Amino acid sequence: MDRDLSEDDSVVDLSFEAESPLAPPAELLERLPSYDWLFQGGGQQIMFPPLEAPGRPLEQRCWSSFLEHSRVPLVTEEVAREALLSFVSSKCCYGSTAAGDLIIQELKQQTLCRYRLETFSESRISEWTFQPFTNQSVDGPQRGTSPRLWDIKVQVPPMFQEDTRKFQVPHSSLVKECHKCHGRGRYKCSGCHGAGMVRCPSCSGAKRKAKQSRRCQMCSGSGRRRCSTCSGRGSKTCATCKGEKRLLHFIQLVIMWKNSLFEFVSEHRLNCPRELLAKAKGESLFKDENTAVYPIVDFPLREISLASQRGIAEHRAALSPRARVLQQRQTIELIPVTEVHYWYRGQTYVYYIYGTDHRVHVVDYPDRYCFGCTII
Ligand SMILES: [Zn+2]
Ligand SMILES: [Zn+2]
Ligand SMILES: [Zn+2]
Repeated sequence: MDRDLSEDDSVVDLSFEAESPLAPPAELLERLPSYDWLFQGGGQQIMFPPLEAPGRPLEQRCWSSFLEHSRVPLVTEEVAREALLSFVSSKCCYGSTAAGDLIIQELKQQTLCRYRLETFSESRISEWTFQPFTNQSVDGPQRGTSPRLWDIKVQVPPMFQEDTRKFQVPHSSLVKECHKCHGRGRYKCSGCHGAGMVRCPSCSGAKRKAKQSRRCQMCSGSGRRRCSTCSGRGSKTCATCKGEKRLLHFIQLVIMWKNSLFEFVSEHRLNCPRELLAKAKGESLFKDENTAVYPIVDFPLREISLASQRGIAEHRAALSPRARVLQQRQTIELIPVTEVHYWYRGQTYVYYIYGTDHRVHVVDYPDRYCFGCTII
């Protein structure tokens, strides 16, 4: 199991047994041979090996050296004012006078820790489908036994890149008469019930208009007109088989590659919204990527270790019954946040500077003049 999926030729052998979560529609089941054996094995759930990382658990890390070497630069009064000025100039309804004239009273700096776990997983389902049969060669059971769902080898997209792709299961094809048109390729037009002609819409079939003696010009006095739905043919090409009369039925394998994200920001007493901190640009402190990662246990901030344990358990519980984990990545980042208290025309106000790119969150701003403005 010790393989690096990002470096091999991306063809992965997933030798596991699966059941089909999607059965063919009832009316097809009656007429198609049973492929139950394709999905046999594995009991009620897809069975995967337990989510264990190869190799050893994380060795004891010297976190203090990590922390010492990552420094988040201090926000000075100068930087705080610049950040606010560039923020207000990007907003249509914030005046810059206050930002220029305010008196900064206090800067409360705090560095938060953000933990993220990304899990890249693959899930597979199968379903019966069909397409018009155009005399292409038929890869049916006579050519061999269909591989089981997780035995089918496919090209895996680059790690952490979501995708959904569909494949035809080998040797599962068979040709049947089209069930919609019963093999005729066409069916009766619903506009004229097959007659090709409809009652004249102008004279309603009376051959002449009301209170007029001359015959209807629209239908030349016949009372009937050619059906526009079928151009007078009385029938329409079958949309199901596109007029081919037969359908190629086959089992389609649908593979979904998905990323799951778990995110946690360490506790703080600042009034800066959590969703901003979740998106904030951070300083990378630690990165761990493998086919499966181990929970962090000894980080100096205990809540980060607990978040790592919780995130890994949550992803395992959510994914393991139905998907196979291909890669995991966990990171710890430092997010600087500064609470700025300032004085302007006799009142005190607060704003926040967050992230390494000094984004601004304004709680109340004295120089805001268009409250109904919806442009953000
Ligand atoms: Zn018609
Ligand atoms: Zn007419
Ligand atoms: Zn048809």
